[in-house]
Amino acid sequence: MPDAVEDIIATCHCGTVTIRLPKAPSEITHCNCSLCRRYGVLWAYYEIADVVIATKRPTDTYAWGGKNVDFHRCFDCGCVTHWYPRKSSRTSLGVNARLLDQKLLSAADVRYKDSAGTGLFH
Ligand SMILES: [Zn+2]
Repeated sequence: MPDAVEDIIATCHCGTVTIRLPKAPSEITHCNCSLCRRYGVLWAYYEIADVVIATKRPTDTYAWGGKNVDFHRCFDCGCVTHWYPRKSSRTSLGVNARLLDQKLLSAADVRYKDSAGTGLFH
């Protein structure tokens, strides 16, 4: 028998979008860029191959700037769920950690990324 592994699932408010993660995030990123600060999201990064995204209806998306990634939100409740790269050569995505259980969110370290200024973490 394999060890029991507790599923880590991020879900939008209405449950239309669920994202299964390989593990709880140890680190999450607070970004102050013009989009993230409006969304009010916290990002957890994962390898695309390790994540399973399930949606009962297709998500709405938004892209800006260089349009390197699409920001997905639930069609029904509007929660921002994740961003996904357009280039197939990119192997990681960002999941909105605010969709996780509150306990998992508060257990992670928050890193502040100054995208509006230096572009560096501080
Ligand atoms: Zn929803």
